[in-house]
Amino acid sequence: MIFRNKCKACDYWTVFDLQVNGDTAVKTCTHCQDSTEIVWDTKAETLISDGEKDIRALEGHFPALAGLKNRGDHVRF
Ligand SMILES: [Zn+2]
Repeated sequence: MIFRNKCKACDYWTVFDLQVNGDTAVKTCTHCQDSTEIVWDTKAETLISDGEKDIRALEGHFPALAGLKNRGDHVRF
């Protein structure tokens, strides 16, 4: 699955790829390819869905965020 968030490595708002492997998951920035393994639990799922909510709220101020749809898309303000 993919989700949107800000990448700490490249400092862009971008699309992340998430590969869940049981109780861990690897999230990869599709812009700079920085990848991080995270513990996959309900807390992580909540963090990701909350991040999506934040982005949807920000889309009103930064319409470019709405354009983040595909792997490799990235934007910085
Ligand atoms: Zn990145």
